[in-house]
Amino acid sequence: MSTAKTAQATKTTPTAPAPDVLIVGAGLYGLTLAERIATQLRRRVLLIDRRSHIGGNCYSAFDPETGIECHQYGAHLFHTSDETVWAYANQFTTFTNYVHKVYTTHHGEVFPLPINLGTINQFFHAAYTPAEARALITEQAQSAPAEPQNLAEQGISLIGQPLFDAFIKNYTAKQWQTPAEELSPDIIKRLPVRYTYDNRYFNNTHEGLPTDGYEAWFKNMLRAGGDLVEVRLDTDYFTDPAIQTLRATQPLTIFTGPIDQYFDYRFGELKWRSLTLEKEVLDVDDFQGCPVMNYADLEPTYTRIHEFKHFHPERHTDCYAPGSGKTVIVREYSKTWHRGDEPYYPVNTADDRAKLAQYQALAAETPNLIFGGRLGAYAYLDMDQTIAAALAQFETLKSRFNA
Ligand code: FAD
Ligand code: UDP
Repeated sequence: MSTAKTAQATKTTPTAPAPDVLIVGAGLYGLTLAERIATQLRRRVLLIDRRSHIGGNCYSAFDPETGIECHQYGAHLFHTSDETVWAYANQFTTFTNYVHKVYTTHHGEVFPLPINLGTINQFFHAAYTPAEARALITEQAQSAPAEPQNLAEQGISLIGQPLFDAFIKNYTAKQWQTPAEELSPDIIKRLPVRYTYDNRYFNNTHEGLPTDGYEAWFKNMLRAGGDLVEVRLDTDYFTDPAIQTLRATQPLTIFTGPIDQYFDYRFGELKWRSLTLEKEVLDVDDFQGCPVMNYADLEPTYTRIHEFKHFHPERHTDCYAPGSGKTVIVREYSKTWHRGDEPYYPVNTADDRAKLAQYQALAAETPNLIFGGRLGAYAYLDMDQTIAAALAQFETLKSRFNA
């Protein structure tokens, strides 16, 4: 693997061999394909990213003041039921036994999420059995159609009107600033609803955090590729002079940036939500007692607070141990995306889907160009889905190299 520094040196060497594949974006999609192409096809990859680090939005860094690992682009929890993805990821990192649990504050009271028997009984001040709770929710969900077409209908059909109004309606309004009637029902289908007291946030077979952090995981992927993978950071596909020279030769390119930007927004912008992440170091051992606290009401205006030390209860170094006197929190606010902001969540309205189809038709006509990843596919992909998509793309790519 070339490090960023040696990559800078390579950049100015005129005799550097041309890459077989240019990958734009060193996020999980780009990293997975770089690793596969290098180790399985023995082809040269040039992997570029406009940021100064690898890992895309999954990147985390150890806070210099406290030593606590902080996820730079919002909290990232790895979870999957895909055995192929799990085996693939485990080649490069081990995972901790972390199990994600989330709480939410509504009208000054804390409730467990996702909606489970504990949430229902606390909300209705009751002691319902699973069957009683199910009967109640079925009755309260009667206003929803049998086949929900949007997030509001889907939410009400899953948990009934009162719980929807308390825990979903205003949080979703803050998060998406788009009427729930215009949002895809898939957004809310991600959350389980349980008639037990199980409050694991995810339903997957495997769950955990990379033991030594996300960057260590991703560095191991690059290490596997050896000298066949050259990484250039702080390198923008659209402006870097050396990349413009390379582009003129039309190399096989895997582009994981925004598909509408690639085509200079000729059919208009695809809508995204962006985030403001406000980090604060506090002189207390423990701020909130859990990794993530959601805020279900319109006030406060942030959607949630992350407290990073709780993601690694297995770590016993000073900064994680009781008595450290320090913690790091991040308040997460959703905001409308404008050009130049980081795109985080695809809004994906019907209008966006129509534009996306136009861009995809154009992409299909462009030789030697493959779009992928959450920005290239304009899709809400979890990490495991991103890896699965990259592995599937690799299978298609193999035929280009007669492998
Ligand atoms: P990215 O990580 O976005 O990487 C794309 C890279 O391309 C970026 O580094 C970018 O700088 C680079 N790039 C773009 N344009 C250019 C250009 N012109 N030139 C050079 N480089 C360029 N998934 C989970 O499984 N669990 C979670 O808990 C979870 N939490 C999330 C929380 C948030 C707030 C968000 C937004 C996503 C979350 N995800 C989570 C999803 C996860 O982030 C994605 O699955 C993953 O990051 C997708 O990887 P990617 O490579 O497609 O995209
Ligand atoms: N959601 C909500 N209230 C919550 C948590 C989630 O209304 O307390 C809705 C909201 O619309 C959100 C979606 O469920 O966008 C998916 O939630 P998840 O926690 O998976 O969101 P992510 O972590 O991807 O931001």
